[in-house]
Amino acid sequence: MAKDRVYNFSAGPGALPLSVLERAASEMTNYGGTGMSVMEMSHRSKAFIKIFDDTKSKFRSILSVPEDYEILFLQGGASSQFSMVPLNLISKTGKASYAVTGNFSNLAMKEAKKFGEISIAATSEATGHDRIPCQSELNVDKDASYFYYCSNNTIYGTEWQYVPETGTTLVCDMSSNILSKPVDVSKYGIIFAGAQKNMAPAGLTVVIIRKDLAGNELPYTPLMMNYKTMIDKDSMYNTPPCYNIYMLGLVLDWLMEQGGVEGMEKIKSVKAGVLYDAIDNSRLFKAHAQPGSRSDMNVTFRTESAELDKKFIAEATEAGFVNVKGHRLTEGMRASVYNAVPMEAAEKLADFIREFDKNN
Ligand SMILES: *Cc1c(COP(=O)(O)O)cnc(C)c1O
Repeated sequence: MAKDRVYNFSAGPGALPLSVLERAASEMTNYGGTGMSVMEMSHRSKAFIKIFDDTKSKFRSILSVPEDYEILFLQGGASSQFSMVPLNLISKTGKASYAVTGNFSNLAMKEAKKFGEISIAATSEATGHDRIPCQSELNVDKDASYFYYCSNNTIYGTEWQYVPETGTTLVCDMSSNILSKPVDVSKYGIIFAGAQKNMAPAGLTVVIIRKDLAGNELPYTPLMMNYKTMIDKDSMYNTPPCYNIYMLGLVLDWLMEQGGVEGMEKIKSVKAGVLYDAIDNSRLFKAHAQPGSRSDMNVTFRTESAELDKKFIAEATEAGFVNVKGHRLTEGMRASVYNAVPMEAAEKLADFIREFDKNN
């Protein structure tokens, strides 16, 4: 690791691979002999169209996205999908079912209520979103146009360990665990993810949509919120987030060098496991998420005392472990160990946890 880099456990925007940043820096002022930065070129230029097409086909290949699915590179963040999903999918029956397992699925559910009748298939609110409901707990409305869930709860640090069987179209917010493991895309209608956790800088939202689902939007759906507009124009109805798409391409090259999503899957459970082990074997620390529901991307934990948490965060920051403060909804600590966070960072933080446990 470069000497001036910290161990960055940011929940989002998250760490990017150092080699990707270095390559982007080397191509910053003159991309591929064009004499300009990717930021400065037309999105209709030959050079950019090649970046766009290559990035899309790398993404399709890495996540094994079937041909009847479109990959869209949109703006608006994952949050704009909270509106786009119901606007485009709910017209079938006017109803949808949501699993509320954290902050973002709750926000998505509340937004969807503007557009139809929403039922809650399951919620983990009663226990502070410390677990994922099991299949038998899911109470999906049989008339639901779709079932919506968030596969990794970034704030609470829980992760679905299974793909729900619901008998309706599956929609999933994978913002914080996309590309961390293989996914059977064919089980889903729509998968979406903001780029800034595991893929690229903030400003790009990737949507994977089964093409036949588009074209059923509610009549008042804004043009820019219509999947059909974006499918028909290959994400280029207007200017796409060009530089972020380029950065995603570099991250995908890096991901291939790590063995693709299969490689990431092996690494991530070891990386998160190192931290959970240190937490579980300590006197002072307790993981927020219940075993069986724990996220391999966001490790949430705390001590019994807010004072001690504060001390831990201050001392960790001082020692070069930055962004370990938990979200205000959970407090305590959160170490996000996305794809780009090196194993060494998790091992060193685990050592630091053990040391703190001994000395306090
Ligand atoms: C960060 C995050 C969001 C919000 O993403 P924006 O791009 O800021 O809108 C939504 N869902 C999940 C799971 C997230 O982690």
